[in-house]
Amino acid sequence: MRLNQFIHRILLVFMMDLALGATAPALSIKVVRPESGEAMALAEGATFVIGTVDSPDATVSCNGVGCDVDADGAFIGFVPIRSASQKAEVGGKICDAQFEFVAHQREQEAKTIVLARTSRGAGIMPAPELFDPPKTVRVTKDLWIGLEGAQLGQIVFILGGSCLTARSLSGDSYRCDVGDGIQVPVASADCELDVPAEPPPYRRCFLLLPKEDTRVDVVNLTRPSSVSIDSWSPNPWGCEFSATRLDCSLKHKLRPSNDKTAAETAVEPGLRGLRVCLDPGHHPDRGAVGPRGFEERESNLLLSREIATLLEAQGAQVSYTREEQPLPIKERHARIRELKPDLVISVHNNSVGDGTDPRLRHGTQTFYLHPWSKPLAEAVHQAILQRMETADLGCIRRNLYIPRFLECPVILIEPEYIILPGQEKKFMSPDYRRKLAGAVVEGIRNFVNARKSP
Ligand SMILES: [Zn+2]
Repeated sequence: MRLNQFIHRILLVFMMDLALGATAPALSIKVVRPESGEAMALAEGATFVIGTVDSPDATVSCNGVGCDVDADGAFIGFVPIRSASQKAEVGGKICDAQFEFVAHQREQEAKTIVLARTSRGAGIMPAPELFDPPKTVRVTKDLWIGLEGAQLGQIVFILGGSCLTARSLSGDSYRCDVGDGIQVPVASADCELDVPAEPPPYRRCFLLLPKEDTRVDVVNLTRPSSVSIDSWSPNPWGCEFSATRLDCSLKHKLRPSNDKTAAETAVEPGLRGLRVCLDPGHHPDRGAVGPRGFEERESNLLLSREIATLLEAQGAQVSYTREEQPLPIKERHARIRELKPDLVISVHNNSVGDGTDPRLRHGTQTFYLHPWSKPLAEAVHQAILQRMETADLGCIRRNLYIPRFLECPVILIEPEYIILPGQEKKFMSPDYRRKLAGAVVEGIRNFVNARKSP
């Protein structure tokens, strides 16, 4: 009897311990960046890290540097990239960088180690495989390949079906001759290797050179002739380019028809009848991700929806490149070519590369490529700066994929940095998105109303 009581008591104490343990859950850290196996630029020496800790009172450090912890536990830090104590393989990649996260709250401690890789890690940058003799690839779709650096703004257009000489394979791109001494990377997903060239083998490559003064020159890289350019306008709305196996043509497009009535009646044309295509960036890839795990592809779609609601209320016709269904960037570009809209807004939300502390440099960036897109970029950029009171990080000309669409003004907006805890939180709020959408639409309207005919 006594023994029974004793055992009972021991069991009770043991069970109370278990219960107490259950009411005080262990502190835990969830890291969003770096992801396990993610590539880091070792040359930059430091990078930002983000994630959440499940107690807002906790302190968090990574590689010995303290992080800023938001009221709900989202954190951000800018920390040195450290060599891993032991290299490990993650998903076939050698991880040689280590990020050690430590959280403290009173006597509790949590530790998480994330292994990433650097450009020094094995298997990251395989040497290009040289083809001697060269191989032939046939591109399976129309390609718009942008040249950077000194050739900023130049686009090489390759007609689907063209056969190109491939000199090497680097990563997943073939280095191909397009004529005139120009070589461009062609993704292996966009071509077939070692095809028997169609008799006669043909190649149709054109170099498009948009100029600041709105002209676009075209160089036929295949044969130095047969480019017809007509209907030049001093103030084009866009430029229509088409190519066949035999020839290509280029002509300026004028303002959409809704402007004509306005010019006649001297009334602001407004947005009525304007066909606007919204391109919510990313998906299937996630784009940038905030510390709480809010993904850019989701944020971009939600903001696009708010923009669409406001545009439609003002009489514009809205289409999307993608909604919930994923569509890779080249197919979104092809979708824009099918839709033939009057205006394109590609909606994004920013991140930074390694080596930059996003807490010190963040704000609004707006991108364009063709000269006729610049006034739209400036109008939307100014409206966002004024309404949202964000820092001005510039309205920038860059050869991004979607803005290569030639036929109408196209811009890409990066209103803020989703990787910052405070900005991510704002983007998760419908009120904030509505206010931002209001700024974007105000910018579009200012651009349309400021356009003189034609
Ligand atoms: Zn993006």
